Parts: sequence; C-alpha cells; structure tokens
Amino acid sequence: MSLLLSSIFYLSSFVPRILSPSATESNNGEPDISGQTFDYIVVGGGLTGLTVANRLSEDSSRTVLVIENGYKVNNAVTQVPSFANSIMANLMYDITSAPDANTGGTHPVYVGNVVGGGSVVNGMAFDRAAAADYNAWEQLGNSGWNFDSLLHYFKKSTTFTPPTAKNVEEFGITYDASYYGTNGPVQASFPRFEYQDTKTIWAAFKASGVPTPKEHASGNAVGAYWIPTALQPNTQTRSDARNAYYDPVKGRSNLVLVTGKTVNEILFKYGLLSGYTANGVQYKSRTDGSVKKVYAKREVIMAAGSIFTPQLLQLSGLGPRSVLQAAGVSVKKEMPAVGANMQDHPNANVIYDLQNLSFPNPYSGADPAYNASVWAQYNAEKNGPLTQAHGSSLAFLSLQTITSKWSQIVSAVKAQNARTYLPSVYDDSSLLRGFTKQRDIIANLHASPDAAVGEFPMVPFGLAISALQRPLSRGTVTLNPSNKYGNPVVQWNSMQNPVDRQIIVEMVRWTREHWAQSVLDKFSPIELTPGVQAQTDDEIINDLMQQKALQASFAHMSGSCSMMPESYGGCVGGDLLVHGVKSLSIVDASIIPLIPATHLQATMYAVAEKAADLIKGRNGDSFSIWNLFGFGRRH
Ligand SMILES: Cc1cc2nc3c(=O)[nH]c(=O)nc-3n(C[C@H](O)[C@H](O)[C@H](O)COP(=O)(O)OP(=O)(O)OC[C@H]3O[C@@H](n4cnc5c(N)ncnc54)[C@H](O)[C@@H]3O)c2cc1C
Repeated sequence: MSLLLSSIFYLSSFVPRILSPSATESNNGEPDISGQTFDYIVVGGGLTGLTVANRLSEDSSRTVLVIENGYKVNNAVTQVPSFANSIMANLMYDITSAPDANTGGTHPVYVGNVVGGGSVVNGMAFDRAAAADYNAWEQLGNSGWNFDSLLHYFKKSTTFTPPTAKNVEEFGITYDASYYGTNGPVQASFPRFEYQDTKTIWAAFKASGVPTPKEHASGNAVGAYWIPTALQPNTQTRSDARNAYYDPVKGRSNLVLVTGKTVNEILFKYGLLSGYTANGVQYKSRTDGSVKKVYAKREVIMAAGSIFTPQLLQLSGLGPRSVLQAAGVSVKKEMPAVGANMQDHPNANVIYDLQNLSFPNPYSGADPAYNASVWAQYNAEKNGPLTQAHGSSLAFLSLQTITSKWSQIVSAVKAQNARTYLPSVYDDSSLLRGFTKQRDIIANLHASPDAAVGEFPMVPFGLAISALQRPLSRGTVTLNPSNKYGNPVVQWNSMQNPVDRQIIVEMVRWTREHWAQSVLDKFSPIELTPGVQAQTDDEIINDLMQQKALQASFAHMSGSCSMMPESYGGCVGGDLLVHGVKSLSIVDASIIPLIPATHLQATMYAVAEKAADLIKGRNGDSFSIWNLFGFGRRH
C-alpha cells in the first residue's frame, strides 16, 4: 500500500486531497473605515492579529481596527479535524517560491488567506518546544523572552481538556494539565478516536530507547510524547483564532474587523526631531479596487505573517536599500534585517509500504461505504476517524539520539566561517554578527540532550518524516522588482549550509534503523522513498530530490523581521517595536529570532498574548503589569 504524501499534510483517504471550501460569509454590513482614526490598527486578521485585537479591545476606551485580506469562512472543511490532512487551496494565497536549489526546485508557499489565517487551514497540532528553544531568544538580546515568562502566556491562551479515560488506559496517553490553562480562549484537547496501530508505533519508539517525557509542555519537549490538538472537546471541531479570540467578542463596539482589504503601505508622518512615526495604512478593496487610507493614533501593529509583513515594510520604505531601489520604492530607513533571517523546518519524506495495517487505518476511507459510515458516526456521536487531524503523538529527538556523529557535527558548525553559506544581504555586518551569535547558540543546542534537532511525527501508516528543526541556512523575502504589489520573492535557501543537509541524511539513517526493529515486523515494511539503493549522503539527498520528497517548508515560515537588537541585525526589539521608527510594532511569526523545535501555533498564541500586554503597558491601557513577569492571575 503506498501513497505519495506531502509532509505538511499527512493525507488520509477520508477526505479529498485538494479542497475548495465554499460558503464565504458576506462582508456586507462592515463599516466604512476610510479616513477614520482608531487607537490601534492591526494589519492581518490571522492567528496573532485576532489574538492581539481581542486583548487590546478589552479596554473599552480604546478603539481597535483589524484589516484582513481574506474573508470569513466557517464550514465543514475548516471545522472537521480530518480535513486538516488536506490542502485547503482556496483558503490560501497562490504563491510559489523562487527555485530552491538544494531541495530540487520551487515549492508552494502555504499561507492562510482567511479570517483566522493559518489557524483555520493548519494541521491543528498544538505543541510547544523545549525550554532551551525559548531561552535562546533571550540569549539573542531579548530580555524577558524565555520559557518561564512565556509559560504564563501559554496558559493564558488555552483551556486544556484531558483525553478520555478509556483512551488514557488503552493507549497509555500521558499528560500534566498543570502546564496548560483552564479558561483561555484556545481549546487544547484530544480526539476521541485513536488508530489501533498507534500502539505499535509507540512500542517501536519505546523499544528504540528514546526519552518519553510525561508532558512535553513542561519545557521538556525532547523524546516521544503525546500532544493535544487545537480542538473543541465537545463538538470535536477545530479551535482557531476566529472562534477562540474573535467570535466571542465581536459585539464589542470598540472592535472593528474588515475583510477583503489588502493593506499595501504603512503611512508615516515625519518630524525633523521625531523622525518617522507610523500613523495609518493604505489599503485596496478586493471587491471594487478602490484605494483608501485609515489612521492610527497609538500604533500600527503588523500581524500579516512571515511572508507579508516584511513585504509591507519594504513597500513602505523600510528594508534593504538594493531591494527597495530595484522595486522603485524610496528608502525611509535602510534596514537589511527586513526580509532576512527567514527560517522553516525543511524535511525529507521517507515512505514505507506497510502490510497488515489494522482496520480502520488512514486509507480505509477509500471504501465509499466505510467512508459514509464514519461520517454518520461523526455526525451522530462526534467520534471516529474524522476526529483525528494529525494524530496525538510526536517525536522530537536530540542530535545525540539521532547520530553517534553528533560531536563531529557540532565541531563542524563551530569551525565554519559564518558568512560562507549565507545570502548576499549578510554582507551587512550587523546581520552577520547576529547570525554568528545564533550559530553559537545552535551549536550548543545541537550538543545538548535537552533540545531537539529533528522531528519524526508518529503516524499509524508508512510516512516517516524527518524534519530539521534548527537550520543554519537562512532564507529571504523580498519585493518582486517587476511587480512590487505582487507576491514577494520567497527564497528559502534550505540546506544551503552543508550541516543542515548532513543532519537530514542522519535522520534518514535513524529512520531506517528504527523501521528495522523487530517490533515493527508485523508491517513487513519496505522502503519506497528514497529506497534502499540510496546509501551515501549524496545518493540519499539526490534520490529524495528526484522523487520530490525533499521539502523546503513545513509551513513554518518565521524570522523574517526578527526580534533582536539592531546591532545583531534585528528588526524589532524585545518590546516588538520596529527599530528606528515610532509607533510601528510586529506581533506575528516574523519576529521569531530562532525557529523553535515545534509546530508554531501554540507558540504564536503565547507570543501574541505577551505582545498585547507589552502594547497595553506602553500605551497606558488597563492591564496587570505583573503579567509580563509571569506573575499575573493564573488562567
Ligand atoms: C498549511 C499550514 C499548516 C500548518 N500546520 C500547523 C500545525 O499543524 N500546527 C501548528 O502549530 N502550526 C501549523 N502551521 C503554522 C501556523 O498556523 C502559523 O505559524 C501561524 O498561523 C502564524 O500566525 P501569524 O499570525 O504569524 O500568521 P497568519 O496566521 O498566517 O496570519 C496572517 C494574516 O494576515 C493576512 N494578511 C497578509 N497580508 C495582508 C495584507 N497585505 N493586508 C491584509 N491582510 C493581510 C493573511 O490573510 C492572514 O490572515 C501551519 C500553517 C499552515 C499555513
């Protein structure tokens, strides 16, 4: 049994592969905002934008506008967990990357284009990285950005519901509820159904001797563990930024969300002494093409995500001089950091042909009669295979676990000339200084048993993904010089650094040893991709590339307007304000300085919660300053 699978979407046969969700809700009735002034303008009504807008509008004396390019969509496709295994093409932008030489060509760039952004189209995995990953952010000059301070916000953003007692007993699910919240907006819970073969998959990870922490959310996220899904426990439907953070408060008179409007420039006023102060945005209506302006008294808050936030800064005159000039944008402030430092989780898909899968398995929906019966079960009982998104088990392993060559790899990282494998924008000395600091931190994390280097999702069929968690290669996002308002140029540069390539190869070798264990004999696994003919490093990489099984992205684009001091080539400081201009902040995944070893959404909810407190604090809005130190009311 085989199927060529995308690594982002562990496709199951219960749903079609390419989905065209319909039922866009009308944007009729939205107020005319042109020429109006709000206290805050939030650009992008995705995961972080809606989170921040909710919190800022808690103070009824502050007005908050969210401008979103997409529309409101809420239907079975966005809500039934099993659909999270499919590509919701109509709810995403149509972007293709620039050719990525080391992964064999161009790749789709997956970004949600809908109210709720990525949280509506993503795979619903809801996990955190190890404490060391977040502590690295503080080591990069961002005071207060560490695991302990974020823990308060991880809790504040969630409500945790444990798995059923039956599943705990039958599958051995472990958890510790004390690391989650009890009344936060996002629901972190477990699907009611688990595939029987999950037991064998778990037995194999235990047999291989990897650590099995009871609760990864404690900051000990290295090993094989159970994770919740962003899932409403009673209805077994998706919990996303829209239904968690926007719908419950949409009646606030001081909160306005407008849809179908593309922001294409941040507006500034200029003063000889004060310099540039952001005071509004220009936007284009997707329905009638009109271009209008709206103004902000306190802050313009960028939440357009890792691809569009750097594009918008560049369109507004903040970015690398050569990029701006090539696109005909006049330079307000030269900022090489805008669009640099882009990171993701590149990955290899090793695929096995497995026999004797238990029934049902992720392919069982190919039988129309069975497919109909699981839909009937879901509709009647909110149970069965359709409650499963990407499953509830993940393995994130340290380099020491993955390969005995770990110390040689660490030495190779330390011995590298940091400039050698970076794109040309790193000719800038500040960017290079920041990367050198990142490189030293990465070397330490690669050497540590307390930080993961590779993800191996634990799925009950033959897809064995090897996803590199902390790449040394750096990508860029830049204006398209021949069409600055068109999609930006997304250049991943994945595996440009040979160490990244070597670790992926070692992960493939670890996977092979893993699947050779006798505990997995019942499946009689046969490696299809890359295939056993591929043995040397070059053969493994080349065959994966030829088979289109080497991916630049896990849809975890991050870091392209990173939070670091300006002397390290950062774009925003620890206060999330853009360096060198006033009243412009960024709260989305572009601020991540070093990508953590995890799927990103739980982290971004926590980041956005913290961002809201920072913004409230400096604008005199009502809130508890103790929250920022992790001493706020426990949620
Ligand atoms: C397909 C996919 C699968 C994923 N799977 C998982 C997973 O299983 N688990 C996990 O933890 N994470 C996952 N992620 C990642 C996670 O969803 C993202 O990291 C997260 O959504 C980032 O939040 P953000 O606010 O930075 O950006 P987004 O959520 O992308 O929000 C940005 C918003 O800005 C809007 N926007 C952009 N430009 C403009 C403009 N010019 N004008 C107006 N609006 C604009 C966009 O339409 C979008 O709504 C996945 C992501 C994708 C795309």
